[in-house]
Amino acid sequence: MSKLPPIQTVKACPHCGGDQFFVVYVFSGKGEAHHLLNGEAGADSSGMHDGLKFVPQVTAKCSDCKKAIGRWDESKDGPAYS
Ligand SMILES: [Zn+2]
Repeated sequence: MSKLPPIQTVKACPHCGGDQFFVVYVFSGKGEAHHLLNGEAGADSSGMHDGLKFVPQVTAKCSDCKKAIGRWDESKDGPAYS
């Protein structure tokens, strides 16, 4: 496969012209959700995602034809498309 362009330079799918894409995220690990026994809000669940391993795949794919259309950099491209 030829080198894909950075996703932010892709304005439309070169294969089908689609304007939507997706990145597959792989989650593994376990988390904890803490609740108070009296039902009140306020339990500390801030560490809930600490045990999760977050490994986004680096290829962005067209939502329509599912072909790879660009490279995804989570730290750079994540905020740009939020
Ligand atoms: Zn497409």
